[in-house]
Amino acid sequence: MSRVLIISILAGIAGMILAGKKGRSTILWFILSFLFPLSILVLLVLPPALPYAGIRQCNNCGRPLTSNETVCPSCNNASPINMVTCPSCGVIVREQGNCDNCGKPLR
Ligand SMILES: [Zn+2]
Ligand SMILES: [Zn+2]
Repeated sequence: MSRVLIISILAGIAGMILAGKKGRSTILWFILSFLFPLSILVLLVLPPALPYAGIRQCNNCGRPLTSNETVCPSCNNASPINMVTCPSCGVIVREQGNCDNCGKPLR
C-alpha cells in the first residue's frame, strides 16, 4: 500500500469522525476527506449542521432534527425546540425572546 493511500484513508476516517460530531453526513465526509484530505479544514470551520435550516433542535443534546423526526435519534428526547433565523444577524438560533447570538429581539 502506498503512503499516499494510507494518508487518504486516515484523512477519510478523521473527516468521518469530525462530521459525526457536527451532525453532518459521515459517509459523504469520509469520501470527501479521502479524495481531498484538505476538505477536513473546511469541515473544521463549518458550524454544526442544520440540515433543513431553521427547523428544530433537540433541547436536551442540541442535535438538529429534520422535519420528520419528532423524537431525537441520539437521546430520545421528545421535545425539540424551534429554530429561527435571526432577522438582525442572520444566525440560526433558538426561538425564544432574544437572539442567542446578538441579543436583539427575534420578532
Ligand atoms: Zn437529543
Ligand atoms: Zn441575532
